[in-house]
Amino acid sequence: MSGLILSGRELAAALRADTARQAAALTDAGTPPRLAVVVATDDAASAGYVRSISTAAVKLGIVCKVLDLGADAELATVRATLAALSADDLVHGIILQTPLPGGVRLEELSGAIAVEKDVDGANPLSLGRLVAGLPAYPPATAAAVLAVLDHHGVELAGRRAVVIGRSTVVGKPVAHLLLERHATVTVCHSRTPDLASVTCTADVLVAAVGRPGLVTAGHVKRGAVVVDVGTNPTPDGGLVGDVDAGPVAEQAAGLTPVPGGVGPVTTALLLNHTVRAATALAGSSATR
Ligand code: NAP
Repeated sequence: MSGLILSGRELAAALRADTARQAAALTDAGTPPRLAVVVATDDAASAGYVRSISTAAVKLGIVCKVLDLGADAELATVRATLAALSADDLVHGIILQTPLPGGVRLEELSGAIAVEKDVDGANPLSLGRLVAGLPAYPPATAAAVLAVLDHHGVELAGRRAVVIGRSTVVGKPVAHLLLERHATVTVCHSRTPDLASVTCTADVLVAAVGRPGLVTAGHVKRGAVVVDVGTNPTPDGGLVGDVDAGPVAEQAAGLTPVPGGVGPVTTALLLNHTVRAATALAGSSATR
């Protein structure tokens, strides 16, 4: 059996079309959607990511402003910038780019992002609200995992799901979103003994680690669906995931590719969250 390649490209295109429609409606109504990206790093990979978000936003009709505070920005400055953007009626979505200065954790600063503008689910309150069943935007990558599974008609209710990785930005929210969809969820991490014995129980396996080749065919039950969230740069400038793609695709019913799987859907969802936030905020200001 050779598994299906579960591309994210078609879904990302459909999401972009929907985002562009909503952005045009907002602009026609006099409230063009605005996204602010706060940067406090001189990391080259981060700069490339910010450029790609900004270009994609503008193409869809979203005004995107990048506030580069410099790699030596004081914490108080970053926090004050986020607070000012949160209070600015003309801004609808806020992203705080990582890495942050001096090893500061995202969660320490992202509490200054208003939840209703927190389009990448960075504020700990957003995660708490999600877990409590209240409205909030999940981190775009976590939402993208679920969106790709749904797009390809993967059944989740009653299935066994295993997530490798427990970060706040990917592993934990993915586990929660799978649980919400009635999967039976197990989360693995670096202290999990005999990883393969756990991952081989999965009908749906999500790898979010950042280690190329961690997931081999020996980690995958025949017929499972595998989502590869990992993005690991290769020396030749390419990108590979956490999954040993060739052998795992032979074993699995379906595998998301890297690149072209979760990645494009993540960016598309981030911008989709932004127009949704703008629509919701425009509605609330009209009734104020
Ligand atoms: P992270 O914060 O470094 O977390 C990695 C997780 O993997 C941790 O929970 C860690 O366990 C676990 N881990 C490390 N080694 C392991 C091992 N040998 N066996 C089992 N678990 C292990 O990374 P992240 O931010 O979640 O990102 C994960 C990957 O997703 C990275 O490749 C990142 O580039 C990628 N990513 C992709 C997108 C996208 O749009 N496609 C977006 C965000 C991130 P401990 O908790 O025990 O340390």
